[in-house]
Amino acid sequence: MSDSFSFDTLAVRAGIERSQFGEHAEPIYLTSSFVFENSAQAAARFAGTDRGPVYSRFSNPTVQMFCDRLAALEGAPACLATASGMSAIMATLMSLTRAGDHVVSSTGVFGATMQLFNMFGRYGVETSYVPLTDPDAWRRAMRPNTRMLYLESPSNPLTEVGDIRALASIASDAGAVLVVDNCFCTPALQRPFDLGAHVVVHSATKYIDGQGRVLGGAVLGSEQYVREQLLPVLRTAGPSLSPFNAWVLLKGLETLSLRMERQSANALEVARWLEAHPRVARVHYPGLASHAQHALAMSQQKTGGAIVSFDVKGDDPANLRARAWATIDQCKMLSITGNLGDTKTTITHPASTTHGRLTPEARLAAGVGEGLIRVAVGVESPSDICTDLARGLEA
Ligand SMILES: *Cc1c(COP(=O)(O)O)cnc(C)c1O
Repeated sequence: MSDSFSFDTLAVRAGIERSQFGEHAEPIYLTSSFVFENSAQAAARFAGTDRGPVYSRFSNPTVQMFCDRLAALEGAPACLATASGMSAIMATLMSLTRAGDHVVSSTGVFGATMQLFNMFGRYGVETSYVPLTDPDAWRRAMRPNTRMLYLESPSNPLTEVGDIRALASIASDAGAVLVVDNCFCTPALQRPFDLGAHVVVHSATKYIDGQGRVLGGAVLGSEQYVREQLLPVLRTAGPSLSPFNAWVLLKGLETLSLRMERQSANALEVARWLEAHPRVARVHYPGLASHAQHALAMSQQKTGGAIVSFDVKGDDPANLRARAWATIDQCKMLSITGNLGDTKTTITHPASTTHGRLTPEARLAAGVGEGLIRVAVGVESPSDICTDLARGLEA
């Protein structure tokens, strides 16, 4: 589809490949392999001279439609899908590094992402962690063997914002690649390629699905990177996206910008309410003027996003976990679950769940305190969300 179409049009129409039946909705090709007309066609498909599908580990038309639509929305030349966000990050690491290489990552990344980087230490790929918001620290951490810089912006769960343009230029100057996990904003709110990023990864499980149904992931980049570096890893290692899940995610993309817009507006309302609450010590939300990188956030993102974190007040640090848990447990409507990006508002205590496997020192460095609560705001009425939070805060 033409690049001249706007985001909202591409979200519902990009990537459609109709079959001979002329179906209106995208078809689900739930098949592991594809039949060839004869041996010559089979040989051509395997050789890649005939671009038709072969085997769903690496070629499936429904998965392809999802990739084409997401690439159109991110403004990326190419995209491949994966079974989950973590397998997207694993494939990215495998495609960009080898033993002896070095990675620089933001301290404030998803807990499992940090675990994965540390696991790659076993295979000779070392990772240094630096504060997301300090470009000088990134520059100082660079070594001659640094191949990859990695960040999430806004970060999970503190919603810190990284200067994507500045970090992309540090990567480019060193011949390295800047990878951005665009999970929190999605292309509806932020397009990292427009800011100079080289590779974008997604946990499609979150906002792209948007209704908490399936796992999925994606990696986007240049035609050359995807074809020559990423595809060989995915085709061989095989963390493939199911065609059924790809179909669910395709339908998710259709309503992505509507949901992001509404959920962001709700999040801003909840963040303002929390900021005025006497039992709340601090609110972390890029859409608030009090956020340390508010101006940078507003220059990179359309809105503050839909994730709000806050610290409950408490003088005694030993009591903070109990206070945070009590606040969460008093909620009657909000779902206590680790997922985010759902139309239903979810609430989590990061220190004992998503970041629970980190050492206390690593947690502290990531700024994840015992009193921190993360709320992923959904599409319910914001006043109902605040009423639910008030129950716990005022208990
Ligand atoms: C959830 C999440 C991931 C991992 O994605 P899965 O689909 O759960 O494997 C990666 N990055 C961020 C920011 C996430 O929130």
